[in-house]
Amino acid sequence: MNDSTMVGLGDWLKRAMGELEAAGVESPGLSGRLILSEVTGFSSAKILGFPEIFIPPDALFEADVLLERRLRHEPMAYILGRKEFRNITLKVTPAVLIPRPETEELIDLTQSICPDASTMVDVGSGSGCIPLSLSEVFPESRVVGTDFSQKALKVAQSNDPDRRISWVQSDWLAGFDRDRFDLIVSNPPYLTHDEMESLDPQVGEYEPISALTGGEDGCDAYRVLVPQIARCLKHRGKTVLEISPSVENQVIQILGESGFVHIRTHPDWAGRARFATGERPNG
Ligand code: GLN
Repeated sequence: MNDSTMVGLGDWLKRAMGELEAAGVESPGLSGRLILSEVTGFSSAKILGFPEIFIPPDALFEADVLLERRLRHEPMAYILGRKEFRNITLKVTPAVLIPRPETEELIDLTQSICPDASTMVDVGSGSGCIPLSLSEVFPESRVVGTDFSQKALKVAQSNDPDRRISWVQSDWLAGFDRDRFDLIVSNPPYLTHDEMESLDPQVGEYEPISALTGGEDGCDAYRVLVPQIARCLKHRGKTVLEISPSVENQVIQILGESGFVHIRTHPDWAGRARFATGERPNG
């Protein structure tokens, strides 16, 4: 073998980090390590601890291919084809939004405000991160997951090999019976027009726009969805919606207009308004 093809882990990483940094890619060090780890099967600790180890030629070729993708700002989750959400590793493709860490908190909040729920639906499930997690924390319950996109539903189903969730293709909750669920949750698209304009290229150029944009004021989805939630919840049923500080006040108002009571918003770990909850009144 020609010596010029022998590249050490440390040298590759240094070059990759330099190129990623120059291209303005987020987390250059982590990206480089994840790529090396993916192609060599070595842990991050081994990569950092043994920089002199040579990268096998096949792996080197593959690492350069993945680095090219990252240099074009493609998110690491799409490059690797997977993303961790709570204790689950989910398959992700560009057909679904990459699950966000703040959404993990929706699961704990739901469990604390609605511990006895036995029938529940997540609207707009994407990768399936929410319904799959709900079925773990509510093991006795019936969980339905929906999406408008057939492609997204395929990804969600592939993340549910044991068929724990009932997957339904639907336009929000159109077609669902009234008074059916104890709990309805959703992380709908909620970015405002201005927020869409200033998205990081890693989000705006790769993730599905339909999972992000909430129209001019970010509230288009809530205006359609919240009245449907009110119809499909049982009396005393609860809803948990992901929101952002930009839509907080309007979402409170929309929930009120649909007759919800005990409306509250809740911060995420970073202290930003991230969830809205409400209850359908009794009768
Ligand atoms: N939290 C996502 C983001 O900031 C937006 C998700 C959504 O619109 N539901 O990119």
